[in-house]
Amino acid sequence: MQAAQVEQFGQPLVLKELSIPTPGPGQILVKTEACGVCHTDLHAAGGDWPLKPALPFTPGHEGIGIVTECGPGVTAVQLGARVGVPWLYSACGHCEFCLAAQEPVCASAQFGGYTKNGGFAEYILADPNYVAHIPAGLSAVDAAPLICAGITSYKGLKETQACPGQWVLISGIGGLGHLGVQYAKAMGLHVCAVDIDDGKLAHATRLGADATVNARRADAVAAVIQATGGGAHGVLITAPSLPAFKQGIAMTRKHGTCVLVGIPPGEFPTPLFDVVANCITIRGSFVGNRRDMVEALAFAAEGKVKAEIELQPLSAINEVFARLAKGEVPSRVVLDFSR
Ligand code: NAD
Ligand code: ZN
Ligand code: ZN
Repeated sequence: MQAAQVEQFGQPLVLKELSIPTPGPGQILVKTEACGVCHTDLHAAGGDWPLKPALPFTPGHEGIGIVTECGPGVTAVQLGARVGVPWLYSACGHCEFCLAAQEPVCASAQFGGYTKNGGFAEYILADPNYVAHIPAGLSAVDAAPLICAGITSYKGLKETQACPGQWVLISGIGGLGHLGVQYAKAMGLHVCAVDIDDGKLAHATRLGADATVNARRADAVAAVIQATGGGAHGVLITAPSLPAFKQGIAMTRKHGTCVLVGIPPGEFPTPLFDVVANCITIRGSFVGNRRDMVEALAFAAEGKVKAEIELQPLSAINEVFARLAKGEVPSRVVLDFSR
């Protein structure tokens, strides 16, 4: 099978021919139809984070495909089913976090396209207990961005605890953010979109954003406070850029919640007095649990959310990475394996 692998951090991916893996007990084999390209794949290939994947590895955690083989003992999925192999590849199922449906923070969690080979390949081995079940009527290419960008932006919005009629601010209108705008509107929220690119902001307006502010404006914080009548009740920062984090906290309303989802490497300065005196909650959010996945997919199956996709072949992955790094991908590139 064809696969694109990271052999060295910071180097182009290498397209190679690998043998098709055989599912062992409790595993399934998925024939890839489509796989979205997430900014996380860039961080993975760059070796950006403290927890690094073992080399070589196959990135991709928005892989959708058909179950073509089930190993011994598999009962959770049927042959021929369409499933997604997400970032949350598997977890232990019985630690305190798994029992509380907080499995993304399970100490034994495995991550698709990171600690396990992912969807930049014609076949993926998966754990049937953690795959996403793709609703009928949702095509593979349309479903792909939902199983990371969709669930993460949806869960992050829930974590802001903003209520219908209140304001949320979404910083970063790329793969995650363009879906976040749609989820937020479907959830009855007012949306202020923030990005450094006017084209992305115009896109946010087309998707229903009520206000937009370019983060590079010198008065960006004041413009958000003006547009939202005092700051957003909930802020979701998807931007893979450190300055967006300090700025996003300043755009949060008193007693509001700022949810951090983007993971650029490094740290950011926190204005402690403002956070304390304004009673602001700062919270991390990491993909979502399996129930969040069902909900995030249901919005799309009901036609309330639709990823805007550009299809490319697997062989174009290095060009796609170069454009994604420069912010030149309009929404989401999906690798189309049917081509
Ligand atoms: P993307 O490249 O598709 O989109 C990023 C967007 O941020 C672009 O529109 C870009 O113009 C904008 N941007 C850049 N600098 C900005 C700034 N200073 N202010 C406002 N906007 C800015 O990326 P993506 O696939 O949406 O992923 C975004 C981030 O989220 C990455 O760091 C990724 O690793 C992370 N991520 C986290 C989780 C999680 O579970 N927490 C899941 C998926 C992705
Ligand atoms: Zn992702
Ligand atoms: Zn666990």
